[in-house]
Amino acid sequence: MTAHYPFKSWVVPRQSAAVERLLKKAADQRDAVISFAGGLPADDLFPQEALADSLDRVMTKHGREALQYQWSEGYAPLREQLAQILQARGITVTADRLLITHGAQQALDLIARLFLRTGDPLGIESPAYSSAIQVFGLQRPRVVPLPRDADGLDMDAVRAAIRGPRPNLLYLTPGGHNPTGSALSSKQGAELLDLCAAHDAYVIEDDAYGQIQLDEPRRPLRATPGAEDRVIHVGTFSKVLSPGLRIGWIVAPPPVIEQLTQLKAMVDLQTNTLGQMALSEYLARHDLGEHITRCLTHYRERRDVMLRALAEHMPTGPRWTSPSAGFSIWMSLQHPADEPLLARALDAGVAFEPGAVFFPGSDAPAGHMRLTFSNTLPARIREGVRRLGAVLR
Ligand code: PMP
Repeated sequence: MTAHYPFKSWVVPRQSAAVERLLKKAADQRDAVISFAGGLPADDLFPQEALADSLDRVMTKHGREALQYQWSEGYAPLREQLAQILQARGITVTADRLLITHGAQQALDLIARLFLRTGDPLGIESPAYSSAIQVFGLQRPRVVPLPRDADGLDMDAVRAAIRGPRPNLLYLTPGGHNPTGSALSSKQGAELLDLCAAHDAYVIEDDAYGQIQLDEPRRPLRATPGAEDRVIHVGTFSKVLSPGLRIGWIVAPPPVIEQLTQLKAMVDLQTNTLGQMALSEYLARHDLGEHITRCLTHYRERRDVMLRALAEHMPTGPRWTSPSAGFSIWMSLQHPADEPLLARALDAGVAFEPGAVFFPGSDAPAGHMRLTFSNTLPARIREGVRRLGAVLR
């Protein structure tokens, strides 16, 4: 008899199975297909030697500790170092208000598990980071979409949502929006915090791209006066150093951190010791700020190359954002950017990320695609955009 496993019906792939197959094919044919799908940092910029040296030092000098279990809140020296890094970004924080997580993704999962019951209202940017939509979806909240575009958040929609059916939890990426690359103005940020204070609402600030500022540095929302009790701040070393490390964090008031730490202990005991200690060693011996500055020079160049290539090769019709943060450009078409278009693009040797997955809710518009420039060298960006332009003509 065929087995019918009683899976929950809402555990589903991010993209449709057909699109996933095409994206995997694109990834497998890295030489032939220039892929603007995914949201990967540049692997040519990883500080490979410095991290190898850090790992080596940890294993040689502190091998027993590195291979052992640890407390759930994270490796104490790393928490101290992280507190200093965050203080330099304007965030008032001490190590006891910090939880180390397996990336920002686990941070979002823990927060969702702690706060959301089935049917609870949750404000989510629309479009939003697709894997955040997915992980929040596991708790089956009632999603209230908050329109977001190149100019930031639609504050009227936020106001109406907070005053109306009152989601008291909002998931936002103030400093760097995936997929559009926009950032909130400080005026919008202050307005948001006023609204939250007046209506007893909280912001989950996903600051994954907060340090990938392509035009000018900016402070996280959590650094705004008055944000301490209203903003749960989530960050990661994935975009500035390496996603393979799987190290992120949450900054929240002590009672929230205590609960999240208990929850983390239940879910996975702790973040991997070896990775935390190697990262701590790296931070002690190298200037992360300098590394980020060097990466930003390349990311800026890659963004500009893609913008110039789009202006040169796109037919009339498509419109795209000019991102000030992050790794990607968001393009809107007058026809669907769906599986058949992706299949044609692959035949032409280029891949994009179909944009429907970035919309919370069931009636996602189909005419958008995300184009990631971060992990492709300039000459290939130019060639990839030329190929895409030919497909869209
Ligand atoms: N938030 C956003 C906005 C992201 O783009 C990503 C990664 N694509 C994450 C969170 C998750 O990052 P991490 O590797 O730290 O889990």
